[in-house]
Amino acid sequence: MAALDARGISAWFGERKVLDRVSLTMRAGQVTALIGPSGCGKSTFLRILNRMHELVSGASLAGEVLLDGQDIYDSSRRVTDARRQIGMVFQKPNPFPAMSIYDNVISGLRLTGVKASRRDLDDLVEECLAKAGLWKEVRDRLRQPGGALSGGQQQRLCIARSLAVRPRVLLMDEPCSALDPTSTRRIEETIGELVAEVTIVIVTHNMQQAARVSDECAFFLASQGTPGAIVEYGPTSAMFDNPQDSRTYDYVHGRF
Ligand code: ADP
Ligand code: MG
Repeated sequence: MAALDARGISAWFGERKVLDRVSLTMRAGQVTALIGPSGCGKSTFLRILNRMHELVSGASLAGEVLLDGQDIYDSSRRVTDARRQIGMVFQKPNPFPAMSIYDNVISGLRLTGVKASRRDLDDLVEECLAKAGLWKEVRDRLRQPGGALSGGQQQRLCIARSLAVRPRVLLMDEPCSALDPTSTRRIEETIGELVAEVTIVIVTHNMQQAARVSDECAFFLASQGTPGAIVEYGPTSAMFDNPQDSRTYDYVHGRF
């Protein structure tokens, strides 16, 4: 488990500023939910948390991201270390469709440079699929292509793939938005189990989901052309039951 601390994060695409001095502590062993209307910079913020923002041409940023006190942007640290320690699951499940379920799970291991025996790999594949709640469904067809699974199963395969490199933080960008209610429930159960060992940050548009899965919640807003910023953050129960800002109240109650 690890604490992730964003300090004074601003972000630009070319000349256009899309985040303004966002600071947020994502505590070890907790689920932090990022909520707010489309376009307020939630996905950009997530990409900054694992150094994917710098892959976008013309993108720039200011501020610090500390993983247990160490800046992931420090020039002495490798980009691949940040991306291994801080995994990402996207809205649209994106397993390698033609690659087997087994190989999908271990596909990120080349990032780690660690050599493992066949037996170790077998154990790792089982462990990660079990943690993602998929093992029982696929144990007899590990050689089938990832693309043959249902959408919800593909998303759980992507979670298993993220876990295989033993991340300390898992970022999830609307992981259930493309899924049916049953698959959504299963992912939520998985999140509840994983958080004992991985710090989780989830973007969601579903307020019931934010209330169900998160310990802390941050409300982002980009009003009238201004860059995205955090209006309010705190324990999820307080954000829903007793928000300090009327805009938070309106948003969590579906009023905009
Ligand atoms: P959210 O995830 O909250 O919907 P995003 O982080 O996707 O918001 O987008 C924040 C702002 O940045 C939006 O105005 C969006 O149009 C802009 N943006 C996002 N990605 C890019 C990009 N690759 N190039 C230029 N602008 C972008
Ligand atoms: Mg987004």
